[in-house]
Amino acid sequence: MRLGNLDGRGVLAVEGGAIDIAEATGGRIGPDLQSCIEAFAELAELAPTLTGPVLELDETRMGPPSPKPGQIIAIGMNYREHAREMNLVLPEIPAAFAKFRSALTGPYGDITLPSGHCDHEVEMVLVIGRTTESVTLDNAWSFVAGVTAGEDISDREVQMAAGRQFALGKSFPGFAPIGPWIVSTDEIEDLSNIPLGCAVDGVVVQDAHTSDMVFAVPELLTALCAIITLEPGDIIFTGSPAGAGSSATPQRFLNPGEMLTTWVGTSGEMRHRLVAPTS
Ligand code: ZN
Repeated sequence: MRLGNLDGRGVLAVEGGAIDIAEATGGRIGPDLQSCIEAFAELAELAPTLTGPVLELDETRMGPPSPKPGQIIAIGMNYREHAREMNLVLPEIPAAFAKFRSALTGPYGDITLPSGHCDHEVEMVLVIGRTTESVTLDNAWSFVAGVTAGEDISDREVQMAAGRQFALGKSFPGFAPIGPWIVSTDEIEDLSNIPLGCAVDGVVVQDAHTSDMVFAVPELLTALCAIITLEPGDIIFTGSPAGAGSSATPQRFLNPGEMLTTWVGTSGEMRHRLVAPTS
């Protein structure tokens, strides 16, 4: 199933649009998408039987497909080709950092560039479906509701300031866009080989598969959950493949007026217009 956030309500994608989950379940699940994610197992069971008026999908009304994540975790240096282009030694354990929640935004709209040093990083994003406990390589995917597209937008100057200030450099407003759809794991043919990419003004700048990851999802989740507990709705940016503008020669940063298009698997296409700050 594919879940989205329309006008702040959880919706299920169907032929020609989507249906409101709270209405279709008689108020049992929902109305907001976070409540739907918390009831994920029950919703997955009911989904094939749900019916209701088909709502038109208006891009301007679609929000992030996890509207209230308690935690946003991101992984650095998790693609072999990306580590090569950055001349970085592959890490022996996952390199994790936080993105702050005020950076979260939906799959369409404007993103303000605070400086001339902002960069794109397309990433597969995991949405957690149940509280993690005793996570192993074999059961790790069972804690994931589904995957969606994300951009780990980064201000490279702030990111590298004060040692390495990743959390702030990657948390300006709008720097964590996700969406449009959570695709549940049962709909994904090969969980270890999901295509992802992004384009600036129609020119593809990142184009890869998750099979190039240094740490695959089961390894990431076992490493993270050896230390922290993940809750339903938490999201994990799983790392950027090669092609970030700051590692190009010459370096290429995002500019106001450009259109950033992002896709991961079958979760749909995000589109963001990059804009200058209003003074
Ligand atoms: Zn990243």
